[in-house]
Amino acid sequence: PERANMSELERNDRDSFFHPSTHVAQFSRGEVPQRVIETGKGVYITDTEGKKSLDGFAGLYCVNVGYGRQEIAEAIAEQARKLAYYHAYVGHGTEASINLAKMIIDRAPEGMARVYFGLSGSDANETNIKLIWYYNNILGRPRKKKIISRWRGYHGSGVMTGSLTGLELYHQTFDLPRTPILHTDAPYYFHRQDLSQSEAEFSQQCADNLEALILREGPDSVAAFIGEPALGTGGIVPPPAGYWEKIQAVLKKYDVLLVADEVVTGFGRLGSMFGALHYDIKPDLITIAKGLTSAYAPLSGVIVGDRVWNVLEQGSDRLGAMGHGWTYSAHPIGAAAGVANLKLVDELDLVTNARETGAYFNRSLKDTFADHDIVGDVRGEGLMAALEFVADRDSRTFFDPAKKVGAQISAACLERGLIARAMPEGDILGFAPPLCLTREEADTIVAITKAAVDTVA
Ligand code: PLP
Repeated sequence: PERANMSELERNDRDSFFHPSTHVAQFSRGEVPQRVIETGKGVYITDTEGKKSLDGFAGLYCVNVGYGRQEIAEAIAEQARKLAYYHAYVGHGTEASINLAKMIIDRAPEGMARVYFGLSGSDANETNIKLIWYYNNILGRPRKKKIISRWRGYHGSGVMTGSLTGLELYHQTFDLPRTPILHTDAPYYFHRQDLSQSEAEFSQQCADNLEALILREGPDSVAAFIGEPALGTGGIVPPPAGYWEKIQAVLKKYDVLLVADEVVTGFGRLGSMFGALHYDIKPDLITIAKGLTSAYAPLSGVIVGDRVWNVLEQGSDRLGAMGHGWTYSAHPIGAAAGVANLKLVDELDLVTNARETGAYFNRSLKDTFADHDIVGDVRGEGLMAALEFVADRDSRTFFDPAKKVGAQISAACLERGLIARAMPEGDILGFAPPLCLTREEADTIVAITKAAVDTVA
């Protein structure tokens, strides 16, 4: 259908562009609002119609330093002029990629040995799976291949990483391989079955169920466990008290590697440089992307810990060079963006700001919504937060999903100039603003959200 004032750009968009995660028939029929974003500055983006929005989700929780940073733009331009591309195979590198690897290791938790670069969080997790299998093959344990993920975890959209992801939307009708991927409990205290349980009891139950799963499958077949330090796309859920301590004890007992997927939490989002540091997690592999470059250019990585690295190094004398690489591994422009971005994170002390402004923001959300009729849970950590809506607070009765209450509230926020994301499963409004957020901007987010929630309540 033609809208009266449809621009040529919008027509070309409708007729040529296959958008990710979009209902394509509705889009073709003009039922999905088209929005062409033109500029960004600080925490705001502006579209081609001049409509400005406070981006309370930093794109897809990735523009951590905020929009319009000239330092990063200059670094990208300089690298493109000097050397737009060279590959990283067989010992090649660029000054930017080497410097960035060093900067990452310097910031990473103790015991991290090397960085393997990719382009996206998904490909980094594909790399993780291959490294885990390779590691066990070197060790002569060809059966130890299964990987345990969690319901509500998000680890990407590839074939194997889509399978790791524990959200129905990402599995639906794709025939993704179900083995050797297993899923265990989501660390989602608000959704516990037994409402009388304490957080510590719930964490113990998660650890007990994990142990039971490992024993059922056979410990000699379970290679690794992957989890986000705090759940992101599954609902923005910080872990319940004691969770990581109990989970790690089980993994240690059965010699199961731990992958911390820090695509969202890496580089400051929780108010610590890494989620692993925040929750005292000791991972063998760490997935990074998003905040590594603040999405000024695509770049991801796997930080490989000593335990895995030492085995790979020894194995290489027997197996030769590892047959795994992307054309764009350690792309110089992404690496230049990463170096400039991490410098800016330091100079602006954004990790501290995420902690302090995050605490202010979370307190303000709690004060505003703790007694609200349809808000069942207010949760967050650093600059990640969520409201979860319920039909009845006392009995924790959820809304009928067909009502799409979360999506309605997100739309009401957008009308008022705020982007807050309706998370894909459940009636959850998510916030993950740029880490440069000020208290005044946090106040704006809370005030608009209050007005939007009141339209539904
Ligand atoms: N892991 C986590 C925790 C994520 O949140 C995401 C994306 O949101 C990914 C992996 C996949 O990253 P990408 O979309 O860059 O492939």
